[in-house]
Amino acid sequence: MELKGKVTFITGGARGIGLSIARKFAEVGSDIAICDVNEKSLDEAASALKASGRQVMTGKIDVTKFEEVQSFIQKILDKFERIDILINNAGITRDGLLVRMSESDWDAVLDVNLKGTFNCTKAVSKPMMKQRGGKIVSIASIIGITGNPGQANYAASKGGIIAFTKSIAKELASRNINVNAIAPGFIETDMTLKLSEDLKNSMLKMIPLGKFGKTEDVANLALFLVSNDSAYITGQVIQVDGGMVT
Ligand code: NDP
Repeated sequence: MELKGKVTFITGGARGIGLSIARKFAEVGSDIAICDVNEKSLDEAASALKASGRQVMTGKIDVTKFEEVQSFIQKILDKFERIDILINNAGITRDGLLVRMSESDWDAVLDVNLKGTFNCTKAVSKPMMKQRGGKIVSIASIIGITGNPGQANYAASKGGIIAFTKSIAKELASRNINVNAIAPGFIETDMTLKLSEDLKNSMLKMIPLGKFGKTEDVANLALFLVSNDSAYITGQVIQVDGGMVT
């Protein structure tokens, strides 16, 4: 699979799953634009990605702010004159049982995970419609399918991404734009590093393949979903979870 001549925009692309997707796509020829809220990690990611020889653009952009997102998309269009792929990856957790969950923890998670996905998808949809083609992949979670105690905000945001994906896939199909979601299970990143050993061990017992996923496992599926090999796949949610949820 190759992405020569393509331009990819990845949100939250400075580390974790987002950076892994950026690396994989750059390796197979895509120019990369990443946004994130942390300037230091953005700079580090940019240096690592430039080693691929592809063009790399970074922006300290908060996906919850539509105007910031829209002006970054304009900068991508000014530089590359096209945008082929959007990966909605930026996401946060603010876990807590409902009785203790503050309104601000609810709002923060819904804002970044769900509204951020809306903002970026809306902003790329016009240029993609004009180009008569594009690929949009959003990183949901198996928690958006199963629910999880202590993660009502996160589950609602990820379930929302799944419903959003199915709706937008139907809206954009006639313009040759594929819209899909990936639902990872337990992937080793900074987000999961902060979980207790007890919780990690109990989760491991629920994974038939007997190991946690790597960021590359998600990146490999993302690459398939933006390649020509998946041209007839849209509106789908595909799990990368070692068989955890069936
Ligand atoms: P990380 O926390 O490692 O990376 C997320 C990135 O998003 C960080 O660089 C973060 O910046 C950035 N970010 C946070 N808020 C914003 C914002 N408002 N605007 C732009 N960027 C932002 O997470 P993962 O790589 O683990 O997760 C990536 C995605 O995959 C998330 O959507 C997550 O929910 C999902 N996922 C992850 C799973 C896992 O097991 N790891 C399982 C299922 C789904 P900063 O450095 O400042 O925090």
